[in-house]
Amino acid sequence: MASQTCVALIAHDEKKDDMAAFAQANEAIFANWKIVATGTTGGRVQEACPSLNVIRLKSGPLGGDQQIGAMIATGDVQMLIFFVDPLTAMPHDVDVKALMRLATVYDIPMALNRATAERLIDFSQP
Ligand code: PGA
Repeated sequence: MASQTCVALIAHDEKKDDMAAFAQANEAIFANWKIVATGTTGGRVQEACPSLNVIRLKSGPLGGDQQIGAMIATGDVQMLIFFVDPLTAMPHDVDVKALMRLATVYDIPMALNRATAERLIDFSQP
């Protein structure tokens, strides 16, 4: 992995609380990583974890997901944590599929729920 891992964080709808709690629980680890996030998610994570420097991109519906996709394609994002809300009517389905595709193409670890995300973090520790 690159010298400083860059992880992208995205949370849909009702999953934003979970993302904020997840980031808070892993704040000490994230302190050594670069964090990028879609706009609203990034705001929630920054609020929950004032010690982190969260780089906020555009909000997902305004292109933030695609900014993250571009960063995966250029090798600037090495891990994707995307808390999808399965209890909504999937209005973001195309965004999820586009990022799953790029994470697969560029073979980066991707978590779609908290249990997987926790394990990715564990496996990333020396
Ligand atoms: P948001 O974007 O963090 O700005 O809400 C996430 C999304 O809806 O893709």
